This record gives sequence, structure tokens and C-alpha cells, in this order.
Amino acid sequence: MIQPSIIVHSGAGYFPDERNASKLEVTRSAAVVGWETLLRQDNVLDAVEAAVRVMEDNVECNAGFGSVLNSAGDVEMDAMIIRGKDLSTGGVGGLCQISNPISVARRVLEKTKHCMLAGQGALEFAVREGFPIVSNESLVSPRAKIMLEGVLSKNIAPSTETGSCITKSSVEEKSLGTVGAVAINCRGEIAAATSTGGICAKMPGRIGDTPIPGGGTFCDDQNCGISATGLGESIMRVCLSSRIANFISNGMDPSTACLTALNSMTERVGGDGGAIVITKSGVLAHAHNSRKMTWASVSGDGELRSGVKAGEEFVTHVVVSK
Ligand code: ASP
Repeated sequence: MIQPSIIVHSGAGYFPDERNASKLEVTRSAAVVGWETLLRQDNVLDAVEAAVRVMEDNVECNAGFGSVLNSAGDVEMDAMIIRGKDLSTGGVGGLCQISNPISVARRVLEKTKHCMLAGQGALEFAVREGFPIVSNESLVSPRAKIMLEGVLSKNIAPSTETGSCITKSSVEEKSLGTVGAVAINCRGEIAAATSTGGICAKMPGRIGDTPIPGGGTFCDDQNCGISATGLGESIMRVCLSSRIANFISNGMDPSTACLTALNSMTERVGGDGGAIVITKSGVLAHAHNSRKMTWASVSGDGELRSGVKAGEEFVTHVVVSK
């Protein structure tokens, strides 16, 4: 019998150590909210959506409020959600003026015959579906503004750093804050979701790997669910999550599959990142070849595991709220 479980991440890359605690806090809360939703509603889509929304609402993450800015100073967000049972897929690209892009992505999955809507068409769909429209300025955090100024003034390569201590080296380290979640229930149904503001100082109109099935997000009950994070232009080129899934279906253990695919991406096209996985038999795994990736998982009777650096793992227990 498979144990209902969830694993989440809030981005791979580099951020200063003083942010570890706050990143861990939001990531753990997202895992707990997702797990409680899973137990209450026994619906894997509900679970990953709920977990991702917690992180979209938190300024520590590069998704929803707190998204990094494009070169024009605007927020443009990508998100994707996939149900592994029937491969139903919903995504949005370049979405503005919406607080929780993952919920619009889910509506694309449920209400349209398409897999992804982008830009103005995505926004008009969200309006028709009754999502609240907010001003784009209300999604802009002070940290995201400082980050953009730092990147533009130093005229360095676009990055997804959202850190408060903006130094040249921290910008160059390209900290990432994309968020994602994968959940499985006792019947082996899996869902995966990813949401992002993309990379800082990207060209307006740029869409990354997040809403590309097999790129930043993958889910198939016959194999596994995956959410990936890292430099989108690299992830897309190597179809990262699809590669990880292929390694797993060929019998590789899921952490090794993630690391092998990430390292071969870095070698072939540059960039780095991380991924979280749940296999069809309920094995949870995560790996990154970036300096850090904040992750958290809840499984079994409420065992909460989390970490930031490779090899680091904190274990506590969730007190289930009534
Ligand atoms: N993969 C995202 C993108 O390139 C960034 C991230 O993972 O932080 O849009």
C-alpha cells in the first residue's frame, strides 16, 4: 500500500545563508498544507495546487508575489500542473496580473482542450473564469526591484536571484526561487506542479521551462512525477524532467536519476538546477547540482523532512491541525 506523500521545493541556486531559515520555513509550511489537503481531500491536484499557492503568496519565492522582474520591470509568470492518471496538462506562460498562476493553470487543465495558454489570451481566460485581477505593481516586491537594478546596473547575465543582499557575487551565482510540488495518494495517483516568475531581467515575452511538459514539469502515474528548477534555457534544451523519467523507467534510483540528468545538462549546455520526484511506487527523492535547493516532504504518519544544502536533512513531525 502506498503512503500518501508530498515533496515540494522553492528553487535551486544560491542565496545567502541568512535566508536559509526563512526559505525553509515557507517550504515546510507549503509541504504541510499540501499534505493536510491530501489527507482531507484525497485529491493529488488539490494537494499540489495548495502547496504551490502557499509559496506563490510568500515573498521568499520567485512565483506569484515576489516574482523576479523582466528587463522592463514587469512580472510575467509561468506555471504548469499535470495529473499523472490521464496526463491531463494545464499551463500558463507570460501571465500578468494574477496572484496565483498555478490556479489558472489548473483551470486550463480542467476547462479547456489546450495544454497551455500564454500572455493576453491567458489573462482573458483567467478573467472569464472569475480570477481576481490585481495590478502588476502589487506583485512586485522591493527585493525583486533591487535585484533588477543590480542586474541592469552591472550589465551581467540575467539571473533569478531574489536575495536581499545583492552583491556582484550573489547576483552572479544566480539564485533561483521557482516553486514546485509533487504528491501521491494511496491509489498511486500522482500530480506535479511548478510555478515561477522566470529569470531576472529576462526579455519581455520570454517563457521558460516551467510550463513545458518534460522540461520543468512531468507526471505519469505509470512512472513518476517531477518538478524541476534551474536555468530554463538549459532545462528546455535537454528536456530535463523527461530525461530523469527515462532514467527511472530504466531502473535507476530516483536521486541518481536526477543528479545524472542534471550533471549531463551542465556538461552539455551549462546551467545548473535541481529536481524533486515521487515514483509510482511512492519513493520520494530530490537532488541538485546547484549550491542549494530548498525542499521539504511529508509522508508516513507525518514525518516532515527538509533541507537546503546537499546531504543536509532535518527531520521533525507534523502536528495535524483539526
Ligand atoms: N526554471 C525557471 C525559469 O528558467 C527558473 C527557476 O527554476 O528558478 O524560468
